[in-house]
Amino acid sequence: MEFIATRKETQILNPAKDLALRSIPSEIRVDPLTGRTARICHFMKLQWQKPDFDQLVAGTEKTCPFCPDKVLKITPLFPREILPEGRLIDEDRILFPNIAPYDTLGAVATMGDRHYIPMTEISVERIVRSFNLAFDFFRRVEAVDHPEAVYHLINWNYMPPAGSSLIHPHLQVFSTASAPNLMRQELDAAKGYLEANQSNYWEDLVAHEKADRERYLGAIGRTHWMSAYAPMGVAGDVLAVVSGARSTLELTDQDLRDLADGLTRLMAGYDRMGIYSFNMNFFTGAKDDAAARFHLLFSPRTFFNQALGATDVGALRNLFNETICMAFPEEIKTMLEPDFDLL
Ligand SMILES: [Zn+2]
Repeated sequence: MEFIATRKETQILNPAKDLALRSIPSEIRVDPLTGRTARICHFMKLQWQKPDFDQLVAGTEKTCPFCPDKVLKITPLFPREILPEGRLIDEDRILFPNIAPYDTLGAVATMGDRHYIPMTEISVERIVRSFNLAFDFFRRVEAVDHPEAVYHLINWNYMPPAGSSLIHPHLQVFSTASAPNLMRQELDAAKGYLEANQSNYWEDLVAHEKADRERYLGAIGRTHWMSAYAPMGVAGDVLAVVSGARSTLELTDQDLRDLADGLTRLMAGYDRMGIYSFNMNFFTGAKDDAAARFHLLFSPRTFFNQALGATDVGALRNLFNETICMAFPEEIKTMLEPDFDLL
C-alpha cells in the first residue's frame, strides 16, 4: 500500500507588493486503492458563512411531499410482489418508491415528520431508526430473491448544497446489481489487492492508519474513522470502515448505532467550520466478497460563492472527475479530533 503525493509549486508576481515573487504550493495525491488522483490546493481557512436558515426554510413545508399532511397522499406505493403493503412505515418514518428512479429498485425514506432539522440536531437515534427502515427494505428484496438484491445502498444528500431538492431530511435507498462507478472500481481494485497480497486492503488500510495516526480519528466498536488520504470533498472526506463486515446486511444493530454515533460527531465538527450540508454514501461488497469491506464516506458540501450560488463542483470535478480539497487531510483530522475525544 503506497501513499503517493507529487508536490508542485506555482510562482506568480504580486502587483500589490511591487511584483514580489510569490510561491504557491499544491499537491496531487494518489488514492492507494484505485489510483484516482485528488488535488490539495486553493488553501484557505476552512470557515464558511452559514445562510439565514429561517429565510432558507420559510414556506418550503407548504409544498413538501414528505411532510406528514401530504406524504401518505402524494408518495407512490410498491407493487404487491415487492411489498404487499406498498410502503414501509415505522412511526413517523416512511419508505416508498423513488418517483425519479435511477435503477429498478429505488426507494426514498423520510427520517421523520420534522420538516427541517439543523445538522447538529440530528440524533443518533433518528439515524439508527432511519437506517433500520432501509434495512427492512433490503431484507424484503432479499426475501423475494429479487435479481437486483446484490448491493444494498443508502445515499444521503443533506440540504441543497449537497444536491437535495428538498429541505426535509430523507435517505436514498436502493438495491442494485449494477455497482456505481467508484464503488465498482474499488471492488475490482480490492480484489486485485487480495490476489496480489493475500490480504484484505481495507483491513490493511485500517491497520496502517491506526498505527500512523496522521489521519486516524478513532474506533467506535468495530467502525474505524479516518480522514481520507485523497479526498473528493473541498473540506475533505471522512471514511468509516467496518472491520470484518463485507456487505451491508452483515452490519449488526450495534454497527448501525456506532456508524450513527460517528456521523453525529462529524456533523458537530463540520458545523464549527460553517458547513451545513453533506453527502454520505454506503460502499458495500456483494454477499461473501472476501476482498470487500463495508465502508461509508461522509463528504461535506458547500458553495465556492454562497451569494451567487456557485457550487463546489466545477469543470475539473464534473468532467475530469479530478477533485480539489482546500486543506491537508491531516489538518482536517486535527480539526475533527475534539469530537472523537471520548474514544
Ligand atoms: Zn417536509
